Amino acid sequence: MTRTIAGPTDHVVVVGAGLAGLATTLHLLGAGRRVTVVERGPGPGGRAGQMLRGGYRIDTGPTVLTMPDIADEAFAAVGESLRARVDLIPLHPAYRARFADDSTLDVHTDAETMEAEVERFAGPADAAGYRKLRQWLEQLYHAERRRFLDANFDSPLHLLTPDLARLAALGGFGRWDARVARHLRDERLRRVFCFQALYAGVPPARALAAYAVIAYMDTVAGVYFPRGGMHALPTALADAAATAGATFHYGQEVTHLERAGERVTAVVTERQRIACDAVVLTPDLPVTYRLLGRTPRRPVRTRHSPSAVLWHAGCDRTWPELAHHTLSFGRAWRRTFHELTRTGELMSDPSLLITRPTATDPSLAPPGRHLHYVLAPCPNTDIGPSATDWHDLAPRYRESLLRELDRRGLSGIAAAVEEECLVTPADWTAQGHAAGTPFATAHTFAQTGPFRPRNLVRGTANAVLAGCGTTPGVGVPPVLLSGKLAAARITGTRPRARLGRGSRPPLAGALP
Ligand SMILES: Cc1cc2nc3c(=O)[nH]c(=O)nc-3n(C[C@H](O)[C@H](O)[C@H](O)COP(=O)(O)OP(=O)(O)OC[C@H]3O[C@@H](n4cnc5c(N)ncnc54)[C@H](O)[C@@H]3O)c2cc1C
Repeated sequence: MTRTIAGPTDHVVVVGAGLAGLATTLHLLGAGRRVTVVERGPGPGGRAGQMLRGGYRIDTGPTVLTMPDIADEAFAAVGESLRARVDLIPLHPAYRARFADDSTLDVHTDAETMEAEVERFAGPADAAGYRKLRQWLEQLYHAERRRFLDANFDSPLHLLTPDLARLAALGGFGRWDARVARHLRDERLRRVFCFQALYAGVPPARALAAYAVIAYMDTVAGVYFPRGGMHALPTALADAAATAGATFHYGQEVTHLERAGERVTAVVTERQRIACDAVVLTPDLPVTYRLLGRTPRRPVRTRHSPSAVLWHAGCDRTWPELAHHTLSFGRAWRRTFHELTRTGELMSDPSLLITRPTATDPSLAPPGRHLHYVLAPCPNTDIGPSATDWHDLAPRYRESLLRELDRRGLSGIAAAVEEECLVTPADWTAQGHAAGTPFATAHTFAQTGPFRPRNLVRGTANAVLAGCGTTPGVGVPPVLLSGKLAAARITGTRPRARLGRGSRPPLAGALP
């Protein structure tokens, strides 16, 4: 049994209406708690926001939705379902990969379709290797889901379960890229199952193979897109929470917490004081620790993930070679990760994620128009250009990005732009994200599982943390799980995945 907070928990205040705060709220409501949510922004979503520009509805954060069953658990906590609130469209292909030699590969989540695609692309040996890799990814996921992803840790000793031995036997403590290389010979193909290491903030050559579970999520379990954009997910979660009785206060920043000894007794904004029995804090960790008046000491310095430049462009044309998600790889690979995580240089030969949401939902743009979202990873401000540097760098970076896109087949893109917005580490810094990155602390070994900042903090008896800075980590599925885990710290309910060992993959019935 893991620890729960002590004392009364009838009224809980949740700080932050991002995905973590919203999931926490639904799980708490489902367990009969009264919940008040305080959010500084004008509405729900946090990093999963949306902006409106000239008739374009632009998602500002995540674009790749995986593992919708985890979101569904939050809805189910109050007797609702994700699919009743959100029209989820499965993406086929999940991604299109374009390589520097002009070859392309469509990444399908259906096993047979993908096997055929791999055979076309790299030959029968790699098709057989893909089959084995897929099997390994499935085993990895099943070994991790219950004890590692969906678990509260009070001590590293909690890891000592049969699942740990299973994970070790699967090579989970080896290196991600080496594990993938065992199955696939084609270097381009390997990238498709390794690039996700960047989501964890670590180069594939240094990332634990256990994190290849992210590759399971988007190459096996499936990628989805909510009609209306990714922001439809937090909107639906907030609507379900309001229907189930949660009170929302938007546009109010929590400035401090009132305490009586070790207990937080009230959450204070510039406009009001809200008494509480317990509090859940979902802002970035530096903000959370400031509110708590205490930053836990860590044995090693915190390492942040790389950051990203986003270029949103509403255009009067598009390029048919773009799928909903296109991975445009440069020729460089190891060097790219080295630049992003070690030397702090901008990518000299960039690898980019280009998303064209209007390929799936044309209503996100005015009639006949198209939305493009280009994510260019870049170093965080701890090791790369500072927020101030970015103020000068931004226009030049935009120019070079557009030149590169044009060179990679999006010919005439500069002339096609009607509306645009460039987001750089200077903007992430202005939003309060440490190290100018919205991707929080990296998932290095020392910042993984029980070694990641915990969701309970010493010295405060009734506060719980949730969100991407704490366990299990960054990304839509992990932060939704973090909300469930935070709620379990309050209600004492043992967090249990609905997916049992040996059962079929989530939404298997919905997969093609
Ligand atoms: C550009 C980008 C692309 C991404 N792409 C993907 C993807 O494709 N797939 C994927 O799975 N994940 C992706 N992610 C990661 C994922 O979106 C995040 O990990 C997740 O949304 C973080 O949710 P959160 O609830 O932890 O934090 P947040 O969304 O930041 O929520 C915290 C909330 O707290 C509020 N807050 C902060 N301080 C205060 C205060 N003092 N008082 C009141 N409120 C406060 C904030 O306004 C915010 O709403 C992406 C993220 C970004 C930024």
